[in-house]
Amino acid sequence: MLNEPAKIIFLVGFVIYTAIRHVYGKRTRNEPPTRVEIDRQEQVLLALVMLGNLLVPVVHVFTPLFSFADYWSAPGTIWVGSGLMCIAIWLFWRAHADLGRNWSVSLEIRAGHELVTNGIYGRVRHPMYAAIWLFGLAQALLFHNWVAGWSALATFAPMYFLRTPREERLLQSVFGDAYQDYVRRTGRLFPRFRTR
Ligand code: SAH
Repeated sequence: MLNEPAKIIFLVGFVIYTAIRHVYGKRTRNEPPTRVEIDRQEQVLLALVMLGNLLVPVVHVFTPLFSFADYWSAPGTIWVGSGLMCIAIWLFWRAHADLGRNWSVSLEIRAGHELVTNGIYGRVRHPMYAAIWLFGLAQALLFHNWVAGWSALATFAPMYFLRTPREERLLQSVFGDAYQDYVRRTGRLFPRFRTR
C-alpha cells in the first residue's frame, strides 16, 4: 500500500533506475554476443537478483505482505536512504552511459567489444555493481522491514562475489595486457588514486 513517504520515494527512484536500464539496454540489442558465459550458476544468481531487487520491493510497496517483518528505525534514516538513492542512480546512469554498447546483463563479449577505460571506468572497474550495492543500501534505509529492506543486499551479495572474479577473468582472456594494465590503475568498487 502506497501510504508511506518512504515507499513513494523508493518507487520514484526505482522507476528512474529501471528506465535507465531499459533505455541503455535497448541500444545493445543490435550488438550480437560472440562469447556467452551463462551457465547454471549465472542463471541462479540472476534469478535471485530479480527476486530481491525487483519482485520483493515492488510487492512491499503495493501490498502489506511483509508487514509482519517491520521494525522501528529513526525517521532520519529515510533521508540518508534518499540521498544514497540519488547517488546510486547517478552512478548507475554514468556507468551505462560510459559502458555503452559493451553492456550486457550477464557475462558476455559482443562483436566489436571494446575495453572501456574512460569516464567513470577510468577510476573503478565495477561502477554498475557499486551503484547496485548503494541502491540496495538505500532500500534498507528506506524500508524498515527485515524482508523488503534487506532483500536486495542479500541477493546481490552472492552475485557480486561469485560473478566479479569470473567477469575479470573473461575480460583478461579477451584483452590480455591491456586489461592487466587497467586493473593496476583502478579499484574494484572504490576509486584508486595511486597505481600499484
Ligand atoms: N562490472 C561492470 C559491468 C557490468 S555489465 C560494472 O559493474 O560496471 C557486465 C558486462 O560488462 C560483462 O559482460 C563484461 O563483458 C562487460 N564489461 C565489464 N567491464 C568492462 C570494461 N571495462 N570494458 C568493456 N566491457 C566491460
